[in-house]
Amino acid sequence: GVVISGPSGVGKGTIIKAVLLARPDFELSISYCTRKPREYEKEGVDYFFSSSSSFKKMVASHQFIEWAEVHENCYGTPVSVMDKIEKGQKILFEVDVQGAKKLIALFAEKNTPLLSIFLTPPSAEILSTRLVGRGTENSDSMSIRLKNANKEMEDSTTFNEVIVNDRIDETV
Ligand code: 5GP
Repeated sequence: GVVISGPSGVGKGTIIKAVLLARPDFELSISYCTRKPREYEKEGVDYFFSSSSSFKKMVASHQFIEWAEVHENCYGTPVSVMDKIEKGQKILFEVDVQGAKKLIALFAEKNTPLLSIFLTPPSAEILSTRLVGRGTENSDSMSIRLKNANKEMEDSTTFNEVIVNDRIDETV
């Protein structure tokens, strides 16, 4: 598997779409989340959108290999991906830094190879500009995401590779 992480607004979504087009042998792990879908997002494609109560039930019944509260919503990776990995399917994970750390530990425990990639913005200013430009967040959500970005940047040392996402084609 490959796990890609990095702060909100760094361009993970854009990079992953392009990587999946170039590498059809990889399948994206679709997470569950309690956030409301954005206008362009599709159920079962971007996420499985869940209520807080059904998410909690899934946590209690061990249906996630990792889950985290990110920017005041819950996100989780379903256990079903591990069956796919055991069958030889290559999986791409897009999770926050907490989730990436858990996946790195879990894969190490299972002796299963996992490449971990941390995407960083060229600068804090550019990250902020991109997040504003994306136009998906209200001001509360924006400030939470920017505050968390500073924390997330400090964790980049846990990853195999750190890539500065300056030019999309080069990053891909
Ligand atoms: P967004 O709300 O922008 O789609 O995602 C917010 C953050 O949650 C992003 O950093 C994204 O990588 C992360 N995320 C998405 N799915 C998961 C997951 O299953 N587990 C964890 N830990 N983080 C996730």
